[in-house]
Amino acid sequence: MSASSYAEFYRRSIDSPEAFWAEQARLIDWQTPPARILDDSRPPFVHWFAGGKTNLCHNAVDRHLAQRADQPALIHVSTETGSERTYSFGQLHEEVQRVAASLRALGVAKGDRVLIYMPMIPEAAFAMLACARIGAIHCVVFGGFASGALASRIEDAAPKVVVSADAGSRGGKVVAYKPLLDEAIRLSKHKPEAVLLTDRGLAPMELNPGRDHLDSDLAAGLKSTDVPCEWLDATDISYTIYTSGTTGRPKGVQRDTGGYAVALAASMKHIFDGRPGETYFSTSDIGWVVGQSYIVYGPLIAGMATLMYEGLPTQGMDRGPDGGIWWQLVQKYKVTVMFSAPTAVRVLKKQDPALLKKYDLSSLRALFLAGEPLDEPTARWISEGLGVPIIDNYWQTESGWPIITLASGVENKQAKFGSPGVPMYGYKVKILHESTGEELTAPNEKGVVVIEGPTPPGFMQTVWKDDDRFVNTYWKSVPGRMVYSTFDWGIRDEDGYFYILGRTDDVINVAGHRLGTREIEECISGHNGVAEVAVVGVADALKGQVAMAFAVPKDSLALTDPARALALEGEVMQRVNDELGAVARPARVRFVSALPKTRSGKLLRRAIQAVCEQRDPGDLTTMDDPTSLQQIRQLVQG
Ligand code: AMP
Repeated sequence: MSASSYAEFYRRSIDSPEAFWAEQARLIDWQTPPARILDDSRPPFVHWFAGGKTNLCHNAVDRHLAQRADQPALIHVSTETGSERTYSFGQLHEEVQRVAASLRALGVAKGDRVLIYMPMIPEAAFAMLACARIGAIHCVVFGGFASGALASRIEDAAPKVVVSADAGSRGGKVVAYKPLLDEAIRLSKHKPEAVLLTDRGLAPMELNPGRDHLDSDLAAGLKSTDVPCEWLDATDISYTIYTSGTTGRPKGVQRDTGGYAVALAASMKHIFDGRPGETYFSTSDIGWVVGQSYIVYGPLIAGMATLMYEGLPTQGMDRGPDGGIWWQLVQKYKVTVMFSAPTAVRVLKKQDPALLKKYDLSSLRALFLAGEPLDEPTARWISEGLGVPIIDNYWQTESGWPIITLASGVENKQAKFGSPGVPMYGYKVKILHESTGEELTAPNEKGVVVIEGPTPPGFMQTVWKDDDRFVNTYWKSVPGRMVYSTFDWGIRDEDGYFYILGRTDDVINVAGHRLGTREIEECISGHNGVAEVAVVGVADALKGQVAMAFAVPKDSLALTDPARALALEGEVMQRVNDELGAVARPARVRFVSALPKTRSGKLLRRAIQAVCEQRDPGDLTTMDDPTSLQQIRQLVQG
């Protein structure tokens, strides 16, 4: 392709979206081709490929049977249990049908929700694909969440069935899932009719008679496991995935079927340059959007084998320390495309650099990193170590696939350190002034990164069960403009490269995991020793950010008695651990007599964050009680 081809490619996607996406739609199989490519008659809602009928599972599995039934489809490696197994497309087809038949036996039909709360085991992928096969809406909840977080998601998704397992494992430590699930179901107003369980033999499970079923027992009693794909409308819901925002209540990001399949197929070709028969390795988790798009659906739709990994990046097959495990897997499975997060690379940076040279990594063409800002030293270190391009990509749970990156499958554009790149085809990315809504067109002016509609295929359809929340949260935050706000600050340089400068809202990013500070605050204020709390994200060299909590104790002794403070801090930490999960646990909980607020009572989280990061807290003229920030400064400096 010519040197300027990405610019042309992008232009066509914006000027002639129907022709552009009609062409991309040919990358997948349709039972009935779409009658209409784009319908945006009711903005900001967009319908892609209306009239078309397709199925995600067909495109990920069945479609490949003719050519590659015996080729690897799912490679599962667990350094937690020392297990390693490859499923061919033919075997994957059988496994998925078995789960589909089991779900059917439990009464699951098209449009029913199935909540999946699973560790990184093949059964999790089978369950997702089985739902897609029968038109059930899956809702995967990250296995690191505990019962409180799980309960609120069960209540919102109202699943007919929950699919789970006895336990997960992290760093050799078994985490029993079943008691957490039982507690979540007890807390939730909605009760699922059935629970389908995989027993890994890691933790004892008590089965609730009539409700709980072991997958092996249920499958053994099935008359037939032949379950054909249900042809779905392109606009039918494929899944929801919860993400954090400004309020404590998580939002169910809802995606369609046809648009998502096309978006993933197109991204595998133009962005990831992944080819059929090759191996894709994403180190994410199925509970996050990257896992949905690029552990399960994307690579399989492209006819690639996907490597699903359970374990730490520093743990070997013998469960002993091994900082080279990922590179060993790249060599063994001839991985061509790898996807990870900057945090993971920062962990590996502490390992012996010789580990990068120990294995034959010649199959690898590129390493993609996403989820948080990629700092230059980390990018340089891994780029020099691997000798392949490191491609930063910026996106969100809401988008489902990269918004800003480099489309190496179209043109090899030069990367710039610190920038994920340029807007991807289909995305009209702009920088607006946060209060006037005016577009900032001069280079390097800081504003809010927004997307102008119509949003491309694969982008969220709406917030599950709440169109108003979708419109009000995302499309009405910039005055006078109906644009989608990413809630990220950014700038664009003179060459059109974007730089992302952090969130405009109360979302924090801990080790690439997106967490809402409000959800953590609500959990902490539920402790009966706490009167009030503020949680902020503070810069951390390894994890990007960590959560830091400042609480006003009900018993003022915790302010003066270090032993009391320590005990209360421990209790609060434990509460977050038990309710939300260890990912959300603050690094510290400090006690203060008052929190910095404006005179109208709004918490000054950004000022607290600035003080924690030893930055200037900015204009404090509206602050009620200046000593409150002073207390925080003393605690942090002390
Ligand atoms: P999530 O929805 O969990 O994928 O988190 C999305 C958020 O993570 C974005 O809104 C950004 O704040 C941040 N993010 C994701 N990718 C990048 C990136 N490549 N550079 C900077 N920030 C990123």
